[in-house]
Amino acid sequence: MEKIVSLCKRRGFVFPGSDIYGGLQGFYDYGPLGSEVKNNLKQLWWRWMTREHESIVGIDGSIITHPKVWEASGHVKSFVDPLSECKKCHHRFKADDLDGNDCPDCDGKLTEPRNYNILMPTELGVIEGEKTKTYLRGEACQNIYLNFKNVLNSSRLQIPFGICQIGKAFRNEVTPGNFLYRQREFEQWDLQWFVDPKEADKWFEFWKEERMNWYKKLFTHPENLGFFEHTKLAHYAKKAFDIEYLKSPFGNKEMEGIHWRGDWDLSGHSKYSGQDLSYTNPVTNERFIPWIIETSGGVDRTFLFLMIDAYTEEKDRIVLKLDPRIAPYKAAVFPLLANKPELVSKAREIFEALRLDFSVVWDDRGNIGKRYYSQDEVGTKWCITCDFQTLEDKTVTIRDRDTTKQERIKINELSGFLEDKLKPNA
Ligand code: ATP
Repeated sequence: MEKIVSLCKRRGFVFPGSDIYGGLQGFYDYGPLGSEVKNNLKQLWWRWMTREHESIVGIDGSIITHPKVWEASGHVKSFVDPLSECKKCHHRFKADDLDGNDCPDCDGKLTEPRNYNILMPTELGVIEGEKTKTYLRGEACQNIYLNFKNVLNSSRLQIPFGICQIGKAFRNEVTPGNFLYRQREFEQWDLQWFVDPKEADKWFEFWKEERMNWYKKLFTHPENLGFFEHTKLAHYAKKAFDIEYLKSPFGNKEMEGIHWRGDWDLSGHSKYSGQDLSYTNPVTNERFIPWIIETSGGVDRTFLFLMIDAYTEEKDRIVLKLDPRIAPYKAAVFPLLANKPELVSKAREIFEALRLDFSVVWDDRGNIGKRYYSQDEVGTKWCITCDFQTLEDKTVTIRDRDTTKQERIKINELSGFLEDKLKPNA
């Protein structure tokens, strides 16, 4: 983990939040390479959801909603973690994780578990004393329930259909830690799939497999992903599975939850808002509150696990074997020698021709071995070198990050080569 955190900072993937002030626990900033990766990930997810599934549409909801939303959702009352505090070192632990009376970090005694509400409050209004208390959203999915009727009425969708969203969520986590794993501000990607209650079982199984297959295509070692089945379920849930990353430095950990939510959400909002959120089947005229199958994952956790999974130490190099579709740079372009103007200008020409269509980077520092080393460490899949032969026959060498093999390819075939290898639905 230390190696990942250090690589992330050194090469500009992720920086500690408010770094120059000594950091702020539970907050991080994505740097130039990290934001490329995160955007690539989000784009792949969005494209897969909305283009590869005809009955899914997306929304982009607000972070602050009516305060009643969080009463209806049960969060004001129950978004709590029962925690015990060590009387000696004052560390706090989730009651679920403890099995004795002594503190795991020292020999201090633990207090009885107490409830901590982790919603993050904020205030609306400018006049002191007249401000309205509300919350930054604790989970992004609430906007989807709030807009269920709006989407239905403004589109031609019929059940079953889904609404998806990517967005920030905020939780006053009592024990933030493990780098991006548990933050106080993080990003979620959610699908809420609305079904006829009779079909909930079928769709739950469908989405469980569908999401696992999506993640498996992205990970360097798909065998490091697995399901965890929850046995302690919320009262409205019939089944809940997590997609876990099995090789994290801190154990098997949740990356996404696949949840059977029944009619809990729409019934709750119907009751609190006074609006009818039922659906009428246009063929049978049957009226019902749709049931929901949810897939709710963490963008930052996916980012972290992908980095851990891709990080490879070989004899003489460190390689980040990220899928090239999510790697920050697809290719680097070099002149073989930086002091030969004819090589530099030809290589610049190639770089300029590629850079509007692909994320490519220019590098002419040091010798070629050092450049390869530097690109391997950030996951650049191909290194394109312009050498003396290029000036004669308009070919370049292209080196593959994983095999380190080089082949010669015509300059005018480079663009097609990259396009072919980077197909989003590969
Ligand atoms: P945990 O049990 O680890 O606290 P959760 O079950 O409360 O997670 P959900 O409410 O189901 O999480 O949220 C869906 C997803 O959002 C999780 O699978 C995870 O990827 C992500 N997530 C939740 N909390 C955090 C956090 N504090 N930091 C980063 N990602 C988070």
